[in-house]
Amino acid sequence: PDTSLPHMLDSNHPANKRVVIEELLAHHLAITSLKEAVISGESSFTIADNHNLHQKFLNSLHFDLTNAQKKVIAEINHNLQSTTPMLRLVQGDVGSGKTVVAAIAACNVVEQGLQVAIMAPTELLAEQHYRNFRNWLEPLGIKLLSLTGKMKKSERNQNLSDIYSGKCNIIIGTHALFQDDVKYKNLALVIVDEQHRFGVHQRLSLKKKGEDNGKLPHQLIMTATPIPRTLSMIAYADMDVSIIDELPPGRTPVKTVAIPDSRRDEIIERIKIACSSGKQVYWVCTMIGESEKIECQAAEETFTNLQQLMPDISIDLVHGRMKADEKEKALSGFSKNKTQLLVATTVIEVGVDVPNASLMIIENSERLGLAQLHQLRGRVGRGAVESSCALLYKAPLTNVARSRLGIMRETNDGFKIARKDLELRGPGEVLGTRQAGAIDFHVADLNRDKKLIELIPAISGQIKRQQPDIIPPLINRWLGDTKKYGDV
Ligand code: ADP
Ligand code: MG
Repeated sequence: PDTSLPHMLDSNHPANKRVVIEELLAHHLAITSLKEAVISGESSFTIADNHNLHQKFLNSLHFDLTNAQKKVIAEINHNLQSTTPMLRLVQGDVGSGKTVVAAIAACNVVEQGLQVAIMAPTELLAEQHYRNFRNWLEPLGIKLLSLTGKMKKSERNQNLSDIYSGKCNIIIGTHALFQDDVKYKNLALVIVDEQHRFGVHQRLSLKKKGEDNGKLPHQLIMTATPIPRTLSMIAYADMDVSIIDELPPGRTPVKTVAIPDSRRDEIIERIKIACSSGKQVYWVCTMIGESEKIECQAAEETFTNLQQLMPDISIDLVHGRMKADEKEKALSGFSKNKTQLLVATTVIEVGVDVPNASLMIIENSERLGLAQLHQLRGRVGRGAVESSCALLYKAPLTNVARSRLGIMRETNDGFKIARKDLELRGPGEVLGTRQAGAIDFHVADLNRDKKLIELIPAISGQIKRQQPDIIPPLINRWLGDTKKYGDV
């Protein structure tokens, strides 16, 4: 072999590849071993694929499932029928219809007389899910309740008792669902929505909740932030992955423009035209890197300012520092089309679903990352109407900001955007806050080493079967100890 220095330093040199593979393997083995330690010996409820409730629910919808939704439902049902606890991640672009998929899984579990917990990352989303699921499932005789941190004590106690007695089938809430005083009768399925906010540790920490009856609940995790395949093969190696790779029919891509904020007047004119033809508009104020307080103040100022500029348009405001019932009121007014323009902070980033909203203005867009821009933009383009998004920015743009806005204008495809994001920011950032530290590699590069990554699951499996004793030292060499994954 060529041992000249330039050749040795080339990433294609066999010696370099060998080291890269070893590092990737260490990560893969660490994360899968952690899962096996939690899951091994544990059993879960077997959920028969009984079509009664599930079919009634489908009949009540005004649309047919997409093939991608059907495929993913079959994958979930397959896991639910097994006594091995499910740990499945459903990835689907914004608007691909993950909530319906979750509701069908819930129906199948409830039909067996077992309980389902649905956990959302924010109160706002928990409330929206509660509203949606009640509309869908209460008519079928399913009992639902919500559990959030801000609930009155008396109401909370009543709910806790209904959860413990099994009077209630589906419980929807925030982290409050897993506080120590919440005792379930027979929790068989946990659905975690928008999981990019939760780390591996939280994914695996549900074990406690199953201890009462000796069974672990199945887990279904939904994420609207697509993760490039190469990254998810390593970072999410502890989960089965399903992908909803199709949008419901009739969606048109959101037309996106980038406009310097010196041309605000034009935007105001566009809003007036849109509203006069019955469309609804989001105006998102972002102050990323500043405090929540400053972001909320900015939204309040914009709200007042827009009211002055457009006195004939009904405008409302939602931000993180408002009380839960005020937020709820602002959002439900918007979703009932009583409000034409909603000024919001990034609290509306994930999950909010108002199909009639078709124009979105994002302020300070040059400060946001691609994943966040894509999430925000995903609040429009959810109905049949053609939607648009204006990315307002303060000139001059940095090169990175310019390329981000360029990518947003070019494509609406969340997976494509995620790949670009990985190139621009690296894996730690793409995965979000929690796992950032755990997945920063010394030598491997998820963009450069795509081909090698494809080999990892097979090699990892082979090592587990044939040389299990080399696993601890291998992990230790690269990661210190595996706690790093568990504790982040
Ligand atoms: P997300 O995947 O972003 O969570 P949602 O589950 O909120 O998406 O679905 C987005 C919208 O699309 C909702 O209004 C939902 O009722 C609707 N929807 C879901 N599945 C379909 C389908 N197969 N056909 C038409 N509309 C659908
Ligand atoms: Mg959603």
